[in-house]
Amino acid sequence: MNVITRIAPSPTGNLHLGTVRTALYNLLFARRHGGKFYFRLEDTDQKRSKDEYTQEIVSGFQELGIDWDTPQGFENYLLTHLEIEGVVRQSLRQENHAKIVEELLNSGLAYRQEPTEEEIAEGKSFVIRLKLGEPRDIKWQDHIRGEMCINTKDLGGDPVIMKANGQALYNFAVVLDDNDMGVTHVYRGEDHLTNTAKQIAIYQSLDYKVPEFGHLPLIFTKDKQKLSKRKHGDIAGIEKYMREGYLPDALNNYLIATSYTCPSGAEIYDLDHGKNNFDIEGMSKSPAIYDIQKLNWYNREYLSKFPHDDLMTKLQPYLKYDLSKFSSADQVKLIDSIRGNLNKLEDINENIFYFFDDFEIDGKLQKFIDEGQDLLLELSKRLENFDFTDAVSMKDEINKLGEEMSLKGKKLFFPIRIAISG
Ligand code: GLU
Repeated sequence: MNVITRIAPSPTGNLHLGTVRTALYNLLFARRHGGKFYFRLEDTDQKRSKDEYTQEIVSGFQELGIDWDTPQGFENYLLTHLEIEGVVRQSLRQENHAKIVEELLNSGLAYRQEPTEEEIAEGKSFVIRLKLGEPRDIKWQDHIRGEMCINTKDLGGDPVIMKANGQALYNFAVVLDDNDMGVTHVYRGEDHLTNTAKQIAIYQSLDYKVPEFGHLPLIFTKDKQKLSKRKHGDIAGIEKYMREGYLPDALNNYLIATSYTCPSGAEIYDLDHGKNNFDIEGMSKSPAIYDIQKLNWYNREYLSKFPHDDLMTKLQPYLKYDLSKFSSADQVKLIDSIRGNLNKLEDINENIFYFFDDFEIDGKLQKFIDEGQDLLLELSKRLENFDFTDAVSMKDEINKLGEEMSLKGKKLFFPIRIAISG
């Protein structure tokens, strides 16, 4: 089977972590099966769709290495005004949608519903609905949730498929476009479960082949709220993470791992590894949990693997300090001494300021300095002629002094550390 998956975002808001995650699973599944992964922009809501959101979605995907294929035969439906390639624009498919509605109306499978007087007064016009007919079960074998069954009587009545202005509604447009694009597998959030039942009913009316479906758990915060921009602000979007210096590989790895366990048990895998090894069996249907600690762990893992020069290149846009006052060898030492503390590239300055700036000691920490007076004075005397490049004997020297003064652990190292780094 020629696998075709797609991501179908609406450009009506910032790029959400959930959209990236859905894109990743669809990309991995398609690549694993030697198939295609398409990008369709669902921009039929003219009022809410904005170019700036399209740009954000596209550049987010590009930065993360989420690359899509151009569907054959869709030249007339591609987005052209933004120098972006291979993206199908749903709003350009209006004529195709209208044509099929016409056919459904002619064959009696859809009907036009006139507005009531009340609706006319509200300025509403007629709508076109799909006839669902006698109640029946809509069943599908969901790739993530297993056997699913929703009765048509629970779909809130005959679905509206087109408005009087000729605009197809989401569930209808999706079916026509997925069908025409040859989509074989649809993986998307489980908030679409009822939509899927409606869409299968539409597939059946049109006598189209129904694709395979898999519904992904949504991302929740630890206190069990759906992660959303409205409630949680910019932690729900991708932009913040890119800005703060999370590495694309780390972000991808983290997002994939929120609902997926690699069959090999590997926790660290980049997109290429994922593409080669992805197995839908590894998907979980339990809610995904947003966990910044886990993301930080991934980012530290990826950062720790960077050779010094590569890390310096990555850090450059974030650095407020000029490291060139140190020799190259010292720069390596300086960075190595703090790189384990970096959750993200942006953390660099707060970890190295004491190599460059004067600082005041926080009131709460001052007591360690006061209590460590004798120690600090004695140590500074002993280090006057000390070879500072010799870290091992420096540590020995400190330990020796500790023994002499009967100080160890916190009492010994805190005053020194605070005096040096604030
Ligand atoms: N435009 C829809 C959304 O962003 C697409 C859902 C789907 O994948 O069918 O939720």
